[in-house]
Amino acid sequence: MPSVPPALRLTIDLDALVANWRWLAARSGGAACGAAVKADGYGVGAARVAAALARAGCRTLFVATWAEAEALLPLPHGMTLRVLHGVREAELPFAVAAAGAAMPVLNTAAQVARWRAAAPDRPCDLMVDTGMNRLGLAPGELAAAQGLKVETVHSHLACADEPDHVLNARQLAAFRALDAGGAQRSLANSAGICLGPDYAFDLTRPGIALYGGVQHPDMAGAIRPVVGIEAQIVQLRDVPAGESIGYGATASGPLRIAVLNLGYADGYLRAFSGGAGEAIVGGERRAVVGRVSMDLTAIDATGTGLREGDWVAIDFDLPRAAARSGLSQYELLTGLGARYQRAYR
Ligand SMILES: *Cc1c(COP(=O)(O)O)cnc(C)c1O
Repeated sequence: MPSVPPALRLTIDLDALVANWRWLAARSGGAACGAAVKADGYGVGAARVAAALARAGCRTLFVATWAEAEALLPLPHGMTLRVLHGVREAELPFAVAAAGAAMPVLNTAAQVARWRAAAPDRPCDLMVDTGMNRLGLAPGELAAAQGLKVETVHSHLACADEPDHVLNARQLAAFRALDAGGAQRSLANSAGICLGPDYAFDLTRPGIALYGGVQHPDMAGAIRPVVGIEAQIVQLRDVPAGESIGYGATASGPLRIAVLNLGYADGYLRAFSGGAGEAIVGGERRAVVGRVSMDLTAIDATGTGLREGDWVAIDFDLPRAAARSGLSQYELLTGLGARYQRAYR
């Protein structure tokens, strides 16, 4: 905690996060439900997320890289960690030493050969590409991993957030056709869990919905918001008619504005300019006025009793903020920046 408290905070509701995980776990049916905590828990704080989910019974975490794994180890009791990008040569010593607590998800023939040479008796996972064409072995390369201690065979859906997309059923069929050689199987991310029980297999890998993201109609009203933004007012100003407001002079008076300690350097991007973004003041929506700048954002404070130093809540409801800004729910969360005081509730 810095000794000078920031005038900007992120409130993180860990009870809501746990409730979201429990909802996703229930929707996963008989499959175990893990949690993606890459990118520092989607910006929320991976260590705090891991601790809260461990208490709720979550056992499997996913990160992208070994640097993220190192930051999270040692894990809460009973948890293991999978590293989605596999393992590079430079990461082998760390990965082999961590085996048991953390293991790579091998994506390429070279990664499989590397793990076989270094740690043939240590557990690993495999990623198979079933049509997304991002990471993963081709189905025909799966046999190359024979003899390794493969715990889980994964694949990843390209269009799970579009329930009617033809690729979902096609990827499901391709995944079913694989010979996993007795290993567990895992296919579904957050949206994939809502595609139906066929998609759950043995283990699910939700990320965004844990943090309040809504990626399927069934999640609306069921998934609780987790992240809130609160910024302090640096200055209030009455802008007379005929005068402009902010960079580019894109808005004008007469207006009373409150200038908040929040800007695009905090991940509150310029896409929220000109009324796309909103604050909530006394239960009322208050539009962002003019352009969001690097460290400051003005809102309409006309007719409010707001004062310098007051804290103002920004509407950061993920589906709504995404729709209004044109940014994705993932970008909104992971872009939030380092200047917030993170307050866990
Ligand atoms: C990020 C990621 C997830 C989680 O996806 P969400 O859409 O955030 O639920 C699951 N699996 C893999 C392979 C991922 O990269």
